[in-house]
Amino acid sequence: MRSAKIVCTLGPASESPDQIASLAEAGMSVARLNASHGSPEHRREMIDRIREADNRVETPIAAMLDMPGPEVRTAPIEEPIELITGSTVEFVVDDDATPERVGLSKSISAAKAGDKVLLDDGRIETTVERVEGETVYAHVESGGKLSSRKGVNVPGVELDLPTITENDEQELDVAAEKEPDFVAASFVRTGQDIYDINRALEDRGVDIPVIAKIERAGAVENLDSIIDAAYGVMVARGDLGVECPLEDVPIIQKRIIRKCHQAGVPVITATEMLDSMMHSRRPTRAEASDVANAVLDGTDAVMLSGETAIGDHPTRVVETMDRIVRDVEASEEYAESREQRVPAAGDTRTDALARSARFLARDIGASAVVAASESGYTALKSAKYRPSIPIVASTPNERVKRRLALSWGIIPVLTEYTTQGADAIIQSAAQAALDTNAAEGGDTVVVLSGMMTELEGLNTANMLKVHVAAETVANGRSVVEGVTTGKVYRTDDGNIEHMPDGAIVCVPSGFEGEFVGDTERIGGIVDSNQGMTSYAAIVARELGIPMIADTKLPDSVGDGSTVTLDAERGVVYEQPVDREGDADRRR
Ligand code: PEP
Repeated sequence: MRSAKIVCTLGPASESPDQIASLAEAGMSVARLNASHGSPEHRREMIDRIREADNRVETPIAAMLDMPGPEVRTAPIEEPIELITGSTVEFVVDDDATPERVGLSKSISAAKAGDKVLLDDGRIETTVERVEGETVYAHVESGGKLSSRKGVNVPGVELDLPTITENDEQELDVAAEKEPDFVAASFVRTGQDIYDINRALEDRGVDIPVIAKIERAGAVENLDSIIDAAYGVMVARGDLGVECPLEDVPIIQKRIIRKCHQAGVPVITATEMLDSMMHSRRPTRAEASDVANAVLDGTDAVMLSGETAIGDHPTRVVETMDRIVRDVEASEEYAESREQRVPAAGDTRTDALARSARFLARDIGASAVVAASESGYTALKSAKYRPSIPIVASTPNERVKRRLALSWGIIPVLTEYTTQGADAIIQSAAQAALDTNAAEGGDTVVVLSGMMTELEGLNTANMLKVHVAAETVANGRSVVEGVTTGKVYRTDDGNIEHMPDGAIVCVPSGFEGEFVGDTERIGGIVDSNQGMTSYAAIVARELGIPMIADTKLPDSVGDGSTVTLDAERGVVYEQPVDREGDADRRR
């Protein structure tokens, strides 16, 4: 499996349900909609399409709506214009642009003489000469072609734009209606900005996790408060590399990833990761190294932008990214850095248990950490400590399942909500590990439960257990408790003479006779009849051998195959299961 996840930005090159499904099959876990382009109406339609694709493919696809935030863009124009190096250009709020007068979506009149105004990710560089009213006059230091709706950055200048702009209000309405799995907030400055967006969502009656995009110098300074407030963080290197000196970006990236990892907050590394693959079939060596380094730094996810939105071969880009990530994760260097960076135990009990689960799983050679998690909290805590094996997160909540698709190492699985108690929760979580091939029958898994099942006197929150994962082939009612492993044999007429010592005898429905042969040799009984007073029940009780009633083995389990009858839990496992070892480890 791959632990670091892939986020893909959807656009004209990847908008159809087939294309979305194809990206998911290539490795996409989260589909991002960039609200700086297109209309809210189109976004509504796209969220529906993402959901449609999610229903079609096996692994979950989460939807992320990325709000434009207090951004400034150049005017929407049909044909590109050329800004000439050495000329003077006027910046005004307008819907048109010429080489002499460039219309912007918002006023930048808070700028002062000497400030930089950068267009199109800094490709065009100008310096403010003077400001008259709302018009900013700037000298074009480095000109170039300017096309429609390009980003405008005025580094270090507070433009006095609201945290939630009119455009954002429209996007929040879309979010309230369509409930994407994440809302990404652009150009945030402080943790308070995140709380304001949470409140705006709450006011609309929805609770959607907010991903804070770090793309301004001020946000880097307020990183701790932003990490505290946000569900997740994005290292938005595109704008960050324009708002801050470019040479600072690599270390800022490492610092953000480290802090998020320590806090257990999912972090996405974004922008220009495989940029040359917009048109080319292979990435550059530098791009492959960039993806690899973000993974080595410990990022939860790597993101594709134009590569999948408007590139020539979106699926191929995801496949390439998938290969790079897998290769890094299989390396000794990656294992070493993961072992060296296990965060110190956090304040909560779940933190302590999740950290213990990580080391316990390693020490006993478990195949998976299985987190039974209603809200996703326990699963996120498990991911924080980066075990070397998959984290299977079983949850009864569809939204939580999709949300966890963003997080490092987690395989999210939807399981039915159970009120049958701790054993049932553990059993269904372990079954999820088998279903996802994270574990094979008979493998040991470490189960961590955060379920708040309100059964009388039973609180399974904060439970850690070493468990043997096994496929259940029958569920019945326990008549005599005990566990035995042996070969199963069916008998129609009660004859058990031909069965080996320790055989588990299957009694058919309607059986009214008696056993013929030495009953002392029977290891256990599976009775298709109901009731505690049947002939078989009397024999089981007399002999003190495990028995369950009211169940039938499926035909797929043939006579002579070895199973484990666990009459404490009332189940038959398909494989031999070492319940003794299980019990020993628990002590
Ligand atoms: C970025 O600036 O890196 C980014 C992800 O934001 P956007 O694509 O919205 O410009």
